Formats: sequence, structure tokens, C-alpha cells
Amino acid sequence: MSKSTRKYIDCREFPNEIGCTLTISGSEKEVIRVAVRHAIEEHGHQDTPELKKQLKALLQNENGKSKKKKH
Ligand SMILES: [Zn+2]
Repeated sequence: MSKSTRKYIDCREFPNEIGCTLTISGSEKEVIRVAVRHAIEEHGHQDTPELKKQLKALLQNENGKSKKKKH
């Protein structure tokens, strides 16, 4: 029984002009898959490898509260 850490992406940390505040959480695969679709359909991004990279960079551990982000 292995518990995989859930990850999440917070849209507020993703550059967007639509004021999106959505949070997508799940396994890394799920989050990336949904986030890519969401970014394209809602944020108007283009489906590029670069987009995936950007999204992966935004992935955070759901229970990793200790990490403080410098703004
Ligand atoms: Zn969004």
C-alpha cells in the first residue's frame, strides 16, 4: 500500500489574464493532464511542450506546508 503524494496547481500562481483562482489537485499525471487542457481552453494558452514545462514547475505537494515561497 503506497500512498502517493497528491500534487496541486494553483491557477493564481499561473500568469493569467482571466483572474482564474482554480486549484487542480490529484496525482502528478492527473494534474498535468487536466491543467494543460484547462490552460488551453480557459486561459487561451497554446498546446506546446513549453506549457507543460511551465505547469510542472508550478506543481506543489499538497501536504508540503513547510515550503515557503519567495515572492
Ligand atoms: Zn485557471
